[in-house]
Amino acid sequence: SLSDKISESFKRLRGKGLLRESDVDLTVSEIRRALIDADVALPVVREFTQAVKTKAYGATRTQSLNPGQQVVKIVHDELVEILGGEARDLHFAQRGPTVFMLAGLQGAGKTTLAGKLAKYLAEDNKRVLLVASDLQRPNAVTQLQVVGERAGATVWAPEPGNGVGDPVNVARSGLDHAIRNGYDVMIVDTAGRLGVDEELMEQARQIRDAVNPHEIMFVLDAMIGQDAVHTATAFRDGVGFTGVVLSKLDGDARGGAALSVRGVTGAPILFASTGEGMDDFERFYPDRMASRILDMGDVLSLIEQAQKAFDEKESQAAAEKLMAGNFTLDDFLQQMQQIRKLGSMKKLLKMLPGAGQFREQLENFDEREIDRIEAIVRSMTPAERADLKILNGSRRLRIAKGSGTTVQDVNGLVQRFEAAQKMMKGGGLPGMGGMAGMPGM
Ligand code: GDP
Ligand code: MG
Repeated sequence: SLSDKISESFKRLRGKGLLRESDVDLTVSEIRRALIDADVALPVVREFTQAVKTKAYGATRTQSLNPGQQVVKIVHDELVEILGGEARDLHFAQRGPTVFMLAGLQGAGKTTLAGKLAKYLAEDNKRVLLVASDLQRPNAVTQLQVVGERAGATVWAPEPGNGVGDPVNVARSGLDHAIRNGYDVMIVDTAGRLGVDEELMEQARQIRDAVNPHEIMFVLDAMIGQDAVHTATAFRDGVGFTGVVLSKLDGDARGGAALSVRGVTGAPILFASTGEGMDDFERFYPDRMASRILDMGDVLSLIEQAQKAFDEKESQAAAEKLMAGNFTLDDFLQQMQQIRKLGSMKKLLKMLPGAGQFREQLENFDEREIDRIEAIVRSMTPAERADLKILNGSRRLRIAKGSGTTVQDVNGLVQRFEAAQKMMKGGGLPGMGGMAGMPGM
C-alpha cells in the first residue's frame, strides 16, 4: 500500500530533530511519482504534494513515530481534511416532526436507505413515518412497504385504487399525518431516474417546497465513479441538499466518489451504506475513510476523482501556468499520459477550449503513438530532456535503440515537441499546442 511505501522510504532514518527537507523532498517526490503513475492530473498532484510538503517540513521527529510514519500521518490528515473533517450530527426540528427528504438517481439506494435510517432512528426511540413519494414505478410503494416492515416503521402511501396519486400531495398529506400523530421523524422517499432529468428535478423541488425538509440527503451510489461529480452537481443545482449518503461502499468502489462529491459540493457526507440489510449502515467518519484509502493505496484514484471536481477556473489556471512557465519535454510526456488516461478523446475535448475542430482527428488517434513517445522520452537522459539541442546523431541512434524505435521516430518527436513548445510560448489556446504536437496531427 501507499503507506507501506512511504514508511519504507524513510526506514533508514532515525533520530531526533526536524525532518530534513531533503528527506521530505525525497518522499514527496515518491508520492508525486506514484500519483503521476496513477495518472492523477497535475494540478491536483501539485496541490496535494505541496500541502503535504509544507506540513512535513515543519514536523519534528518524535520518539513514538519514525519519520515515515509521520509523513503517513500528514498524508492521512490531509485526506481527512479533504473529506470534511469531523463527522456532523443530523439536524432535528426544535418542535414537531423532523423531515428528511431523500434524493438521488434511480437505483442509488434511497428506498433501502429510508429503511436503514428508520431503524437507526427507532433505536434512538424516535417514532418514524416513511412517506412513499415515489410513484414513478408500479412497485415502488410496495418496496417501501417491505422495507418499512423490515425496519419496523409505518409507511404513508396513497390509498390503493385512488388513481396514480401525486407524489407532492402524498408528501404533504404525510406531513399532516405525522404532525397529527406525533411522529418524531418523517422520511420522504422520492423517485429517481436513470439519468439526470429536468422533470425529476422539478418534482423533487415541489416535494421539497411542500414539506420544508430539515435535511435533504443526496444518495449517491459510490460505484458510479466518474459520473459522481456530474450527478452531484446536477442535484445541488436542481434541488440542493444538506448532506450526502454514500451507498454501496461494500462493493469495490474505490471511494473516489467521496472525494469528488465533497470537493464539488462542500456538503458533508453523513452516512455510509454498506449492504442491502437494514443494519448495513454507519455514520461516515472521514478519518476512517482516510485510513481505508491509505491502506488500500487508493489515495491515487481518489485524488484523481477530486481533480474531476476542479471547476473550469482551476483548469484554466493550470493551463495558464503551463503557458507562462517552461513547457518541458516532461510536461509534454505528462500531457500525453493524461490524454491516454482519459481514454476517451471526447472527454478531453470538453476540457480544452476551442479544440472542437480537432474532434475528427482525435477520433482517429492511435494510442500506440503515445507508447512510442513515452518509450523515446524515457530513453533520454535528464540532460537530453532538458535541452533537445544536444541531441546529435549518435545520441539519437542510442535513444532509438533504447526505445525500440527508429531514428526517424526520434526526429519526428523532437520536431513535434518543438512545434508544441513554440505554440505554448506564443500563447496559443491552452492544450492546443499539445494537440498540435500530437502525432498524426
Ligand atoms: P432507489 O432506486 O434509489 O430507491 O434504490 P434502492 O433502495 O431500490 O436500491 C437499489 C438496489 O441497490 C437494491 O437492489 C438495493 O438492495 C441495493 N442497495 C441499496 N443500498 C445498497 C448498499 O449499500 N450496498 C449494496 N450492496 N446494495 C445496496
Ligand atoms: Mg426507490
